[in-house]
Amino acid sequence: MNLILFGPPAAGKGTQAKRLVEARGMVQLSTGDMLREAIASGSDLGRECQAIMSRGDLVSDVIVIALIEARLKEAEDAGGAIFDGFPRTVAQAESLDRSLARLGKQIDHVIRLKVDDAALLERVAVRFADQGRPDDNPESFKVRLDAYNRNTAPLLPYYADKSLLTEIDGMGAIDVVAEAIDAALDGSPT
Ligand code: AMP
Repeated sequence: MNLILFGPPAAGKGTQAKRLVEARGMVQLSTGDMLREAIASGSDLGRECQAIMSRGDLVSDVIVIALIEARLKEAEDAGGAIFDGFPRTVAQAESLDRSLARLGKQIDHVIRLKVDDAALLERVAVRFADQGRPDDNPESFKVRLDAYNRNTAPLLPYYADKSLLTEIDGMGAIDVVAEAIDAALDGSPT
């Protein structure tokens, strides 16, 4: 099974992806985590992306598509991927469809976590205080939210047209959101 966890920054995608990895043995493919690892390792890629990410802008499609390509076969062999923070543009989504098709696979579910902006701002303030992620500062977070609304939200009709989209209230407790995701994936009523 291949699943996209979709939603604005700080909607809970990473938290839910990690739980699904534990529960279902799928592989989490988070382009944000991969880029942060590249920065931490001091690689050329990390140096190229660091300033863009701390501003809150999107890095180029070419870079994130290459990161996903490099891990896709391994994830498919392991039983499927949870895409977390990817795709974020229509070009990324189209590329992902082509890459999966080459492996005889497809996206099976797109789960949209809906969280209102006020709650996102509260969550990210707590995360900034706890973890000090540079792009969680209020100015960068605003840029990230704008990038989501401008570049990423337009993907919703792309997946709705393919009848892949399930919308879930992401405002509740982690366990309640997790149950709703499980129900969507397993086809039982919420
Ligand atoms: P995330 O951890 O998913 O919130 O990603 C953190 C940052 O990494 C984003 O604000 C972007 O700068 C960059 N990034 C992660 N995934 C992508 C993507 N699919 N396309 C473009 N930029 C990305």
